[in-house]
Amino acid sequence: MSKALVVYSGGQDSTTCLFWAKKNFNTVVAIAFNYGQRHVSELTAAKQIADQAGVPLNVFSIDLLSAVSHNSLTDSQMEVETDQPDHRPPNTLVEGRNMLFLTYAAIFAKANGINNIITGVGQADYSGYPDCRNEFILSLNQTLNLSMDFEYTIHTPLMWLDKSEIWKMADELGAFEIVRDQTITCYHGIPGAGCGVCPSCKLRNRGLINYLKSKNNG
Ligand code: ZN
Repeated sequence: MSKALVVYSGGQDSTTCLFWAKKNFNTVVAIAFNYGQRHVSELTAAKQIADQAGVPLNVFSIDLLSAVSHNSLTDSQMEVETDQPDHRPPNTLVEGRNMLFLTYAAIFAKANGINNIITGVGQADYSGYPDCRNEFILSLNQTLNLSMDFEYTIHTPLMWLDKSEIWKMADELGAFEIVRDQTITCYHGIPGAGCGVCPSCKLRNRGLINYLKSKNNG
C-alpha cells in the first residue's frame, strides 16, 4: 500500500501536486503550515480543496518563521516588490521556508509511516528562490534520511515544468476548474485569477493563456 504526504498551500502548484498524488498513490494525506502569512485565506482555500479531493489536511502553526526574519509575505508593513532591478530574489522570498516545511513534513511522515513526500517546487520559472532548486531537494532528501534513519523519497513532479505545462498537468488530472477557480497564488490573497498585477498573478495568468492557446491549436 503506497502512501504519500503532500506539502500543501492551496496554491496552483501544490493543488496540482495533490491531484497528481491521488493518481499515483493509494493513500494521500496533506500537511499545511500557518507561518504568519498575510492571507489566512490561503489556508481556508487549502481546507476547502482538500475536502473536495477527499484528502485529510493537517494544519500546523510555525509562527517562528516570520519572527526570525522579514519578508513581504508575512510583514504587512512591507510592499510586495514587482520587479528586481539587480537580479536579487524578490522580497516575497521567505528564507528557509521550503527547508522547514519539508523537515516538519518529514517528521510528520515518519510518525505516520509515510515514505513519500510531495512538494510543488520547481526551477523552470526560477524566480531566484534557492530552495526551489533540484540540487537543494536532492541534498535535503539525503539529509532527512540520515537525520531520521528513514528512507524518504521527495517527489517534485513540477520541477522542470513551466506554468503552462503545470496547467496542462492539472487539466489531464481532471483538476483544471478547481485549480483555476479555487486556488490562491496571488500575493494579495485574491483567489482564482487574482489581482492580475502582482508577479505571481502575471506568471500564473501568462501560463494559462499560453496553455489554452496551445490546446486550441493542438
Ligand atoms: Zn496578484
